[in-house]
Amino acid sequence: MTDEVTAKPSSAPTSVGAALRKPTRAVAVRWGDNVVQVGGGAPVVVQSMTNTDTAEAIATAIQVRQLAQAGSELVRITVNTPEAAREVIEIRNQLDRMNVSVPLVGDFHFNGHKLLTEYPDCAQALSKYRINPGNMGGGKRRDDNFARMIDVACRNDRPVRIGVNWGSLDQELLARMMDNNNQRAQPWDAGAVMRDALVVSAISNAQRAEELGLPGDAIVLSCKVSQVQDLITVYTDLSARCDYPLHLGLTEAGMGSKGIVASTAALSVLLQQGIGDTIRISLTPEPGGDRTREVIVAQEILQTMGLRAFTPMVVACPGCGRTSSTFFQELADSIQSFLRDQMPVWKNQCAGVENMHVAVMGCVVNGPGESRHADIGISLPGTGEVPAAPVYIDGKRTVTLKGDTIASEFQQIVQDYVQERYGTGQSAPSSSDAN
Ligand code: SF4
Repeated sequence: MTDEVTAKPSSAPTSVGAALRKPTRAVAVRWGDNVVQVGGGAPVVVQSMTNTDTAEAIATAIQVRQLAQAGSELVRITVNTPEAAREVIEIRNQLDRMNVSVPLVGDFHFNGHKLLTEYPDCAQALSKYRINPGNMGGGKRRDDNFARMIDVACRNDRPVRIGVNWGSLDQELLARMMDNNNQRAQPWDAGAVMRDALVVSAISNAQRAEELGLPGDAIVLSCKVSQVQDLITVYTDLSARCDYPLHLGLTEAGMGSKGIVASTAALSVLLQQGIGDTIRISLTPEPGGDRTREVIVAQEILQTMGLRAFTPMVVACPGCGRTSSTFFQELADSIQSFLRDQMPVWKNQCAGVENMHVAVMGCVVNGPGESRHADIGISLPGTGEVPAAPVYIDGKRTVTLKGDTIASEFQQIVQDYVQERYGTGQSAPSSSDAN
């Protein structure tokens, strides 16, 4: 049996929290008065991407608004055809009319050099361009196309993301690096060469963009792959070899829980090391699913890691044989939805509310304890317990709710608490957003 002495740590306790953010250049992405800083110590930016046909301006503007209202700070749209490029200005105008100032990022492949030069209104309506150097042809043609896109970015004072993807990695570069690898005394395996080629492609294209006149603080990099371990290795290497801000994302993450788990596993390891300045969760939407899911998942990753706060979090127990009722699950779900729905209003009127913790617990085993640790908590009765639900506010037991109106009464108590504690506009103490 372990005694008290051997159970003590042999050195000072490990501190809690992510590593300090890796210093990167600050890139400003602007639309009107809205300036979103990526890198340079700014909070990790949440971004998302539409899946509407960009040529359908109204549908795209509506989805951009939904993503922005869910909390996406940048929204990327595909610009793949002349029809899409023509409609970008209309999408921007629609958003401006709706007072949605989220910056739009144009996603370009294959013909971006033509679309950006032939549709100058499109180039101006976009706040940032995503360039994939692996999808611009080969040899001199690729160099010329890349130079044309960088020229548009310079003339419009727009930042770019140089986004390399292993599905479209520059094949000439990869072939060269494979040949060089064969000259090594102990050649690397093909996967290691491919990962290195991704990093080399991103950094060398960024350097070329700078040689062409794009400021170094107008470049964001990404190297997306679809396997968790590859992503962690590639970004750890990329971060060590440059100080451009990094856009993190696991490409083709997948659907449902698989996509969420894979993205969370990969991104949280990197974020914990202080790597990453903006994130996007590439979830495959379930049929009929809501596109804003990817925004909520991104926010929840950052918030549960303590890196940012977006909306009050509900702590709920998983339930077990001590409660046969689903009431506490329904209450936890309805309170979380209520809190999220209120945030657009509270954000401007109740500073600091996003740091609030609410506990909804299923029985007396952990209910009172967890409720006391939350800002506001309720402990529901388990099977065989007295049918009463004590409410705790700031660690102290206050009222006890009973009967059929527990849910509505508790929601009102939460609402009153928010107004009383945060309604003055005073921000509650928080370490969130500081790193
Ligand atoms: S709080 Fe009660 S109901 Fe919830 S998991 Fe713990 S023992 Fe089970």
